[in-house]
Amino acid sequence: PCLVEKFKVVVDGDEIARRLPDYPWIIVDLMLWDKHIPKEKDKITLQVRETYAVMRRMYYPRKFAITWINEEYKKKNKLPLEKIVSYEGTTAEFLKERGINRVVLLDPNADEALSEKDLEEKAFIIGGIVDMKGDKKGTTAKIGEVLKKEGIEVLRRKIVLRGDVIGVPDRINHITEILIRMLYGEPMERAILAVQ
Ligand code: SAM
Repeated sequence: PCLVEKFKVVVDGDEIARRLPDYPWIIVDLMLWDKHIPKEKDKITLQVRETYAVMRRMYYPRKFAITWINEEYKKKNKLPLEKIVSYEGTTAEFLKERGINRVVLLDPNADEALSEKDLEEKAFIIGGIVDMKGDKKGTTAKIGEVLKKEGIEVLRRKIVLRGDVIGVPDRINHITEILIRMLYGEPMERAILAVQ
């Protein structure tokens, strides 16, 4: 069943309220924040703000977590951090606190494409990474390496359009929207075309 159906609750006969699901979590991981130049940090901040807007419009802000939050990001972000989960610890700590030991890491350099089966996992990680300087190719994998060292199983998965990552918008907010659309049952290709 699509997520919306699964979480509908009937109140007073016909009024419909939405109950917060336990899963899945959508996590933006800021572990690599310090590898970015100031302009890139501004772009990450803007894209995460747009990700919050996507979560409000399409999913649940309270199931949106930002991990590895640092002082600089806290000063810049202009987000209602109390409406999401803003987490100053590591992603591994965040997951362990919630009893989650396996995650999907969205990674354009993964070998496998995101499948329907993967959509049943409890948490999805998107790298808080932008690459204006061209020096961050393959850096999403580093997030996975750190998680693995902490004992978390990591499913690295790519989003592809007709088999290729070329043509897939790579902004953090766009990847989030594609993921949410797929969680609601939309095929990958249609979800990608909808955000382009
Ligand atoms: N330069 C980084 C790399 O090569 O790993 C990619 C950074 S991308 C701008 C920001 C984030 O969006 C990534 O960390 C990843 O989580 C997600 N992302 C972007 N394109 C993706 C794709 N085609 N498939 C899966 N995830 C993607």
